[in-house]
Amino acid sequence: MLTFTPNLADRFQGGGKRGFRVLDPREQMDLIHPDDAELLRSILNEAAEKPECQSQSINLRFVDNRGVYCWMRCQVRVLTDVRGTPELIVGKLSDIQEQRLKEQRLIEKASVDSMTGILNRKAADHQIAKSLSTSEKGFLFMIDIDNFKLLNDTLGHAAGDEALIHFVSEIKDSFRQEDLIGRVGGDEFIVFMSNTDQEEAACIKAEHLLLRLAEWEKYALSASIGIASYPRDGRSYHELYKAADTAMYQVKERGKNGYYLLNNKGL
Ligand code: GH3
Ligand code: MG
Repeated sequence: MLTFTPNLADRFQGGGKRGFRVLDPREQMDLIHPDDAELLRSILNEAAEKPECQSQSINLRFVDNRGVYCWMRCQVRVLTDVRGTPELIVGKLSDIQEQRLKEQRLIEKASVDSMTGILNRKAADHQIAKSLSTSEKGFLFMIDIDNFKLLNDTLGHAAGDEALIHFVSEIKDSFRQEDLIGRVGGDEFIVFMSNTDQEEAACIKAEHLLLRLAEWEKYALSASIGIASYPRDGRSYHELYKAADTAMYQVKERGKNGYYLLNNKGL
């Protein structure tokens, strides 16, 4: 039975239930975030089975009286009787909400390309590789701006930056919110479109983006887009990346401003 001291009960129970049968799987653990309840059960079980382990600590989200999840560090310690049989587990909760928020903000900041607001190279590599492990199908797009150096050299770096920001807004508009978009080089971008094997849908995305770029009147902007199909063109992120890059270079060689879906017999 999990019970709180009065000050914690005021914050987390609001005069509700007096205790929770944590180890009973039928017990409604609405006090703790569903993803964390199992963790609490396992640490309590472990502490009871191995009382010699003295003390352990885990981070959990408790629901406070306003219904808001708060990160708390929970340190548990087993108290035994004279024969060493576990009798009681005492836990100490410390509020780590602020610390977690700060960490979260730092992680987000470290993942983002400061100029365009999309994922930077490291974060894009990591998140796309992770997404591949849970996706059955998808397309990886490698998108590189054409003659971007010329734009910089003729109109200046500030114009180049403005074009980059516009370019990214067009990529974002062309894809779904859940697709992962990253900046992997100065004028090179990557997009992973997950959960589809519809080649036509992938080609429409590329066509749409090229059309939108051509419609921008301020600066002449176009791109070369290479598309690789997952898992057909590569099972690992590394292989798929290389495949999309190869497809992109074929577009460059054929005169730029276009797209190429690797191994697509239909086009
Ligand atoms: P290609 O058509 O073959 O892709 O040629 P390119 O000129 O686009 O490509 P290249 O790789 O030769 O040059 C990319 C240029 O992108 C080089 C650099 O001047 C520019 N660049 C890279 N990062 C930035 C940035 O943050 N801001 C600006 N304004 N320019 C950048
Ligand atoms: Mg380029």
